Amino acid sequence: MDQIDVVRTPASWVVVGLDNGGTCNNATVLDATGQFLVDHLVENPSLVTEGPESAVEQLAEAFTGILALTSTPATLVRAVGLDTPGPASADGVISSKGSTNFSQVSWHGFDIRGALQARIGLPVIYNNDANAAALYAHHRHFGAAAMEKSSVAAIVGTGLGGGVVEAGKVISGAAGMAGELGHVQIPLQGVLEDDQPVPQCNCGFAGDVESVASLTGITNNLLPYWLKRFPDHPLAREPIPRAAKLLRGYGEKEDPLALAVFGQQARAIGKLFTIAANFTDPAAYFLGGGVVEAAPRFRQWFLNTVRENTQLRAEQQAAATFALVPDLDMAGARGAAVAALEAVRPAG
Ligand SMILES: [Zn+2]
Repeated sequence: MDQIDVVRTPASWVVVGLDNGGTCNNATVLDATGQFLVDHLVENPSLVTEGPESAVEQLAEAFTGILALTSTPATLVRAVGLDTPGPASADGVISSKGSTNFSQVSWHGFDIRGALQARIGLPVIYNNDANAAALYAHHRHFGAAAMEKSSVAAIVGTGLGGGVVEAGKVISGAAGMAGELGHVQIPLQGVLEDDQPVPQCNCGFAGDVESVASLTGITNNLLPYWLKRFPDHPLAREPIPRAAKLLRGYGEKEDPLALAVFGQQARAIGKLFTIAANFTDPAAYFLGGGVVEAAPRFRQWFLNTVRENTQLRAEQQAAATFALVPDLDMAGARGAAVAALEAVRPAG
């Protein structure tokens, strides 16, 4: 909490970062010098299942709550960064088909950025949650050099999220769909076993990164195959969705079935990063998600396997680094705040 006792000059200003999730909002404050005023998770219920009106009200409450907690006068706030799960447009309009978190019909096509901006009367800058986490990883890693550097981040969760950062800014694309790394199709040679069926993704593609490197990929594709090869494994007695969630614990104990599955995930991400190397040639490759929260030995093995399967040229090997996304539970709110800071920071 000691970071809260920051001495401010009257000229200083701040931005607020709000991360909207399926159950909770997480809030943070970032000052004009790039210092976070909150060093821990500050949450309130997101109420997204009750529809947009309740959810926007909860975001407004998260905003006033974090200002109160940090003793920040509202007059010092120049902008608010907001991130939510996608799919949504670059400007924060939820997909017309809805999504996992925004399934109620009233959410379909809802402009959550515009609604929050109208509610709190401050500019709101929007990013999807994976892009916000990618942006935070980038700025945390490169610090003062962030605006000159590029990176790519893959975040393994229920799906596979990610982000592409160029010169310190997230590439959003014409329709807001840039950096959807989970749905990049990868060469499967070296990822799959000879007799393994081609994994299918919920998006309709076969053999994209998410079909392998996500919890959904484990449940739908990898575990059903590997359990046939390990019929006496204790997880064979569990329903598949539960077995998929338990798998990481087995991986930490170096269980052969679990290492086979996670090895395929790491190789798939290596294939993705190989495409990135030839596409934007980033200075850093970030890896985040559940695997990062695992035991240190396991997560290091996973990162090493990703690195070994990313084919870089000698010049790229010398220039690029591989790293884990830090502070993952706060990365969304912090990345949203970084985006807001960059949006309103005076040029020069
Ligand atoms: Zn897909």
